[in-house]
Amino acid sequence: MSLTNIVVVGNGMVGHHYVDRLLQASLDVKITVIGEEPRPAYDRVHLSEYFAGKKPEELALTSREFYKENGVDAHFGDAAVKIDREKKIVLTDSGRSFSYDKLVLATGSYPFVPPIPGAKDEGCLTYRTIDDLGEINAAAKSSKVGVVVGGGLLGLECANALQNLGLETHVVEFAPGLMGVQLDEGGSKMLRRKIDGIGVHVHTSKATQTISKGESCRFRMNFADGEHLETDMIVFSAGIRPSDQLAREAGLEIGERGGIVIDYHCKTSDSDIFAIGECALLGNRIFGLVAPGYRMAEAAVTQLTEEKESFRGADMSTKLKLLGMDVGSIGDSHGNTEGSVAYTFSDESKEIYKRIIVDTTGQKLLGAVLVGDCSEYDTLLQYYLNAIDLPEHPESMILPDSAGGVPALGAAALPMTATICSCLNVSKGDIVEAIEGGCCSVGDVKGATQASTGCGGCAALLKNVVDDEMAARGMEVNTSICEHFNHTRQELFHICKVEKIHTFGELIKGHGQGRGCDICKPAVGSILASLWNDYVLEKPHVGLQDTNDTFLANMQKDGTYSVVPRIPGGEITPDKLIVLGEVAKKYNLYTKITGGQRVDLFGARMNELPDIWAELIAAGFETGHAYGKALRTVKSCVGSTWCRYGVQDSVSMALLVENRYKGLRSPHKLKSAVSGCTRECAEAQSKDFGVIATENGWNLYVCGNGGMRPRHADLFATDLDDETLIKYIDRFLMFYVNTADRLQRTSVWLDNLEGGLEYLKQVVIEDSLGIAAELEAQMAAVVDTYQCEWKTTISDEEKLKRFRQFVNAPDAKDENVIFVEERGQPRPANEEDRLELIAKSA
Ligand SMILES: Cc1cc2nc3c(=O)[nH]c(=O)nc-3n(C[C@H](O)[C@H](O)[C@H](O)COP(=O)(O)OP(=O)(O)OC[C@H]3O[C@@H](n4cnc5c(N)ncnc54)[C@H](O)[C@@H]3O)c2cc1C
Ligand code: SF4
Ligand code: SF4
Repeated sequence: MSLTNIVVVGNGMVGHHYVDRLLQASLDVKITVIGEEPRPAYDRVHLSEYFAGKKPEELALTSREFYKENGVDAHFGDAAVKIDREKKIVLTDSGRSFSYDKLVLATGSYPFVPPIPGAKDEGCLTYRTIDDLGEINAAAKSSKVGVVVGGGLLGLECANALQNLGLETHVVEFAPGLMGVQLDEGGSKMLRRKIDGIGVHVHTSKATQTISKGESCRFRMNFADGEHLETDMIVFSAGIRPSDQLAREAGLEIGERGGIVIDYHCKTSDSDIFAIGECALLGNRIFGLVAPGYRMAEAAVTQLTEEKESFRGADMSTKLKLLGMDVGSIGDSHGNTEGSVAYTFSDESKEIYKRIIVDTTGQKLLGAVLVGDCSEYDTLLQYYLNAIDLPEHPESMILPDSAGGVPALGAAALPMTATICSCLNVSKGDIVEAIEGGCCSVGDVKGATQASTGCGGCAALLKNVVDDEMAARGMEVNTSICEHFNHTRQELFHICKVEKIHTFGELIKGHGQGRGCDICKPAVGSILASLWNDYVLEKPHVGLQDTNDTFLANMQKDGTYSVVPRIPGGEITPDKLIVLGEVAKKYNLYTKITGGQRVDLFGARMNELPDIWAELIAAGFETGHAYGKALRTVKSCVGSTWCRYGVQDSVSMALLVENRYKGLRSPHKLKSAVSGCTRECAEAQSKDFGVIATENGWNLYVCGNGGMRPRHADLFATDLDDETLIKYIDRFLMFYVNTADRLQRTSVWLDNLEGGLEYLKQVVIEDSLGIAAELEAQMAAVVDTYQCEWKTTISDEEKLKRFRQFVNAPDAKDENVIFVEERGQPRPANEEDRLELIAKSA
């Protein structure tokens, strides 16, 4: 019997998924792929990560080699231009022809550019393909201002990209609200408020009539209401249109407003031609998300088999992180269902908005909107997708914990039919089956089921289900740091140490797989810094750092940064205090004494950081590592030098301790304090390690912390002399750095340490493991290689480039940052202040 000839036109996400599933089905077929783009399918959902440095090959979903190895005849950079339905052939732009028995159209969609005069000029761009992003990147290099036309999901994602590229960013939306498809009015308003707050300018109810030459910028957008806006580049993200031209010309049935009409089996009006993904129209609806496209691809593959599945629509719930803000929309988010009842929770001070829509009986969830806090998204989605009965008071589901919000629906409570990964349609039952079949880690389950390989939004839930299921079977729960390494943080630490590994690249090549993620990268960054103390912004390390570390400063809520110089032991000379005052005055910084006896200087713009630090370093200050998981402060009282109760010199000891450990990078931030007597004015017992003077020396306390879950420190050793005290702290800290989990505080680490405090004492004091000398040597190496990261930074022109606010205008100020005065100092303007300022300037 001859092979069935299948030609797939379009190699986007859905076209590729079709080919992939067809290969898995092991049918007697010959597959030909025709793709217009120059490269095989890539991950469009994560496209914007290109701006964060992801290379096209890192976004790839497949490769030419994979197709070749699997006998797929693939042609890229050549569009299909004609279908001859009678002869059953497809012709391409380059003149090739391919005959088919079954033709699959997966041509996706293209961005809609409104017919505005001037909208097709150079500098007017779209946001859909890798090539588009290359053009946006190039245009941004010579632009100061950028406008995104369209305040929908993609428009806001694009605005985020422009802002990250350093442009003054505007969003122009025709409708009165943002993300009108997914959000109700309240959610949309809260989102706007948050976006305004970070300095992206939002203009709603604005219809662009023409685009002409600008005066201060390249373009001028002229709006119907008579106002205008000047900009150097414009990106259109005003919706998508299905790519149906090929099908239209071939005489297939097309919807009134575009889209190739299909039936439940994804067949077009020609039974030998299928359409799947964003080019297909079912029941007058285009499904603009990847999950429904994948379902169509799977249904279309089964049409070649005995068991024919159908596609009858799909869930369009979405969870996003837009401009660093959580936004979630589930089911009937507008409450359009008749008889539905809505519950709303809004906290303006925290900029959180939540709304759930419940059916008439109050028992089933119909929809939800979450803005500013998506922590209940997974739980609500499970209630919605699986029609689970709601608790007696459904409103409690969106109330904060303080008001008695209900706990998350645990993995165990989910039915086997619960969809865990909606992109790849993996249910809890599929996961359990994979574990039954021998999988024993999240990575294995991912490999077997493909769960969480789409948008990745279900990663946390997947891990819960896997851990829960394994624990229920008495299997050891995998403690690997993430799917990229089959090792714990502790094991990775030891590997790096023993093999003298200095970069993430070396480690993942030798001991991991893939390219790493937001879990393993910062953890490895921290391990390498603890071990080798290299400059953290060195090229191989910079991509591993958390946001604050990348600018060696803490980003605050208005996008400015805080400067926190180290003031060891809280001791500071009048001259140095004056310098802090002068710097604060010169750069108009808000000034506050912290709880850890330092001076916080708030409100510095990114490009000011190097100048500020140059002045501070010249006056003898060093970085206080307030941005890092590192030693922060060692607080002290005045001790025996000044206090009539003091029995030891607590300031000298605090200075010794702080100067010794100041460069140490650790799994979590570390704080310490030294009190001069048992009256404990420095609060040493609420610190990771605390020292309290006694008549005979020092008492050492360990593993306390303040913060959200305070824990009193445990008394570890008494009446120590200076040398022994430092020896024990060296060993204690290095043992913690070596063995703790990522982001594990000393208190949690101790709670999880088998044998607890007694065991810790044996290791540190009695050297029961015989590693004390090694721990001390490790600490000595860290102490010897200390460097002030800011000092290193300001002495290198190349490193300073990172701190430019605008790539093309290094000295330009970010005009989005607005301060007002309160109690004689600057503070970030809130929405009311901004409105007042606008009213005054009008
Ligand atoms: C920036 C961005 C972010 C997104 N974020 C999300 C998200 O978070 N969640 C989500 O679910 N979805 C998201 N989407 C939507 C998702 O990417 C699409 O739903 C999905 O890519 C649709 O897949 P498709 O294969 O139907 O179309 P596409 O991926 O567009 O692929 C169609 C392919 O066909 C090619 N083609 C067209 N005509 C021809 C022809 N005549 N001959 C040959 N080839 C042709 C095109 O060049 C293209 O490569 C996002 C999209 C973008 C652009
Ligand atoms: S802890 Fe003791 S020494 Fe220190 S300030 Fe308080 S009373 Fe004085
Ligand atoms: S307590 Fe700390 S984390 Fe909380 S708002 Fe204040 S500075 Fe921020």
